[in-house]
Amino acid sequence: MNNSSNETKQSGRYGTGFGGQYIPETLMAELDKVTQKFNELKNNQQFLTEFHDLLNNYANRPSLLYYAKNMTKDLGGAKIYLKREDLNHTGAHKINNVIGQALVAKYLGKKRLIAETGAGQHGVATATIAALLGMSCEIFMGKEDTDRQKLNVYRMELLGAKVHAVTSGSQVLKDAVNATLQEWASRCEDTFYVMGSAVGPAPFPEMVKYFQSVISQESKQQLQEQEHKLPDMVVACVGGGSNAIGSFANYIDNPSVKLVGVEAAGKGIDTDLTAATVERGSVGIFHGMKSLFMQNSDGQIDPVYSISAGLDYPGIGPEHAALAEANRAEYVGITDDESVQAFEYIAKQEGIIAAIESCHAIAYIEKIAPKMAKDQIIICTLSGRGDKDVASIAKYKGVNIYE
Ligand SMILES: *Cc1c(COP(=O)(O)O)cnc(C)c1O
Repeated sequence: MNNSSNETKQSGRYGTGFGGQYIPETLMAELDKVTQKFNELKNNQQFLTEFHDLLNNYANRPSLLYYAKNMTKDLGGAKIYLKREDLNHTGAHKINNVIGQALVAKYLGKKRLIAETGAGQHGVATATIAALLGMSCEIFMGKEDTDRQKLNVYRMELLGAKVHAVTSGSQVLKDAVNATLQEWASRCEDTFYVMGSAVGPAPFPEMVKYFQSVISQESKQQLQEQEHKLPDMVVACVGGGSNAIGSFANYIDNPSVKLVGVEAAGKGIDTDLTAATVERGSVGIFHGMKSLFMQNSDGQIDPVYSISAGLDYPGIGPEHAALAEANRAEYVGITDDESVQAFEYIAKQEGIIAAIESCHAIAYIEKIAPKMAKDQIIICTLSGRGDKDVASIAKYKGVNIYE
């Protein structure tokens, strides 16, 4: 790595200038404090012990690296391993990140956690860790989303969180992020914003990556034990990009490992009903960062769409924008239809009901594995479990299971 890329990294920049801190003046000092504390905690043995203790003894890590024998045989090409983040407590990778950020908040002396949520998954994860650590928790969720995801609203309340329905803008995820940033700017003395993905102003993308890197730390070691080599390809689905950047992190410096991020193409990359940001987006500034966004020619953020609530974010984390720009990682789109087919496929092949987000990555595996050699290896991150999706997939297939 040359000096200039080191420098850009240090200032929270990636590639040709993605990332940064585009936020109100009132938050600058607070973000500086967070950055300083985070840098200190990375070398604080007590913090690291506490983090890994919660990962192992609360979240159920390490997660399995599971050899998907049936899929491998059926697809007839590369050997497929699944990194089972679906087996974590609360059923997805999100717990890794919220444990890390809640501990940073604790070490900063904060007593109150706030977070945005779209479908409710990140809100539930944040409420979970707040309950465990005895912190107060308030979640901001678009009014549209609170109506669509009543079960998750109830879950958060059950865990002791207060849920605010955000009525500004189009009342969806992007508006919830704005509302949470505003709340933080107006009250940061006792409050920490637990960011839901590898997005937002520095140091959030770096911090989220750090906490999610446990995925690839483990997978690299587990594959070494099982196969004594590196994988040829690592595949993960991408919303804001936290599970993907954690899945990629420990392989970025291994050029022989191909990295593939799978975005939600919705009804198709060429339609307006899509969330494939790398393919369809353009460079802009939103939610405190410079990155790629779905936007119109005036820079207004466009609505995005996917069957999968966890993937319909109109942007992508700045490091992914840089990895795409440098051609270090490839980003591909998978449609609703393809991911629903994969949802059924992995259930029947492997006896695993996987999150519809993760099934975008599985659908890509179905396409690419047969084209690879039998001695090649793919690791695919199963970001979450699919219990939450069963009713809506049934409906998509024309079955009303509540009849
Ligand atoms: C939230 C979520 C995602 C997408 O978020 P990333 O930050 O891109 O990882 C993917 N899968 C599951 C199961 C999720 O809950």
